[in-house]
Amino acid sequence: MTAASGQRLTQLDELVSLCASRGYIFPSSEIYGGINGFWDYGPLGVELKNNVKARWWQRVVRERADVVGMDSAIISHPRTWEASGHTEHFSDPMVDCRACKKRFRADQLDDIGPCSAREGSSEHDLTPPRNFNLMLETRIGASEDAAATAYLRPETCQPIFTGFKRIREAARQKIPFGIAQIGKAFRNEINPRNFTFRSREFEQAELEFFCHPDEREKWFEHWCEERMRFHRELGLGPDSLRTRAHGADELAHYCKIAVDIEYRFPFGWQEIEGIHDRGDWDLSRHSEYSGKDLGVSGEDQKQRFMPTVVETSVGIDRLCLALLANAYAVEELEGGDSRTVLHLHASIAPIQVAVLPLSKLR
Ligand SMILES: [Zn+2]
Repeated sequence: MTAASGQRLTQLDELVSLCASRGYIFPSSEIYGGINGFWDYGPLGVELKNNVKARWWQRVVRERADVVGMDSAIISHPRTWEASGHTEHFSDPMVDCRACKKRFRADQLDDIGPCSAREGSSEHDLTPPRNFNLMLETRIGASEDAAATAYLRPETCQPIFTGFKRIREAARQKIPFGIAQIGKAFRNEINPRNFTFRSREFEQAELEFFCHPDEREKWFEHWCEERMRFHRELGLGPDSLRTRAHGADELAHYCKIAVDIEYRFPFGWQEIEGIHDRGDWDLSRHSEYSGKDLGVSGEDQKQRFMPTVVETSVGIDRLCLALLANAYAVEELEGGDSRTVLHLHASIAPIQVAVLPLSKLR
């Protein structure tokens, strides 16, 4: 039977329960009722995820002479996040209800439902909006003062920028070249939802490709094509995969052009990967904040310039979710029975070869 003969996934709930029962993905600390926005990968899930990461690393790093890898610490010097703008800008406007103590995003008040804690009214007693930073805070060492505050990284790319000079020199790379990293990132999402799609701890695979400003369009095109090819090769077809260019109002302030690669999930078209022209924002800011010049010399060794950056950033958990949703099919069997099958691409399937005893259908 082929995937086309099975019934496609329409409800995310069906995939959530299949993932739990087969040991792909289940709520973290499940015996305590789980913890919102955190998920554990079981025996099959971890194999799938590792295969996806290995394939990305193979394509983006190992098969190319112009990309090198790194594995940075999750915690960076706090100045990193001042330079990147996260300390100041990485926030959502939030309101609190004084009665039920719930917190809501100020731009999503239309669908928050009635208040359960007020007498004689179902309306929430809301505070004015204030900004709530999405970075997860932690403390370093025994000191209680503000200098001990650090953050779990909200994206994996900033250590690539702070390590740019060291890595370029150590790897003897010339512009254009890229630095890639796969690792955990953390965001204190107010409203984690859609299974692993929007969670508080997640894994990113990011490439920062440094090039001369004159070549930024060429490399942006190159990486858009490369990344779409990667997803197509994993079996994501044209009816469920598309690119969407950001409108001017959606672009981050440092970003010149951005394209999302979107998958058609049961809850709609959503981003699985972003490709961004970040300009020289990051290297310029880190030069300014650290006092170290991160510019490079041109071919003739005379003119110095700040490289411009094309970033590709894929959410590994989102990609795994898209691959699982894409593979899901319910097949009708003879005699009125049905079975649920995951038609995963052979290169990422958790089990690639198996010798199994004959057994009766249970
Ligand atoms: Zn309330």
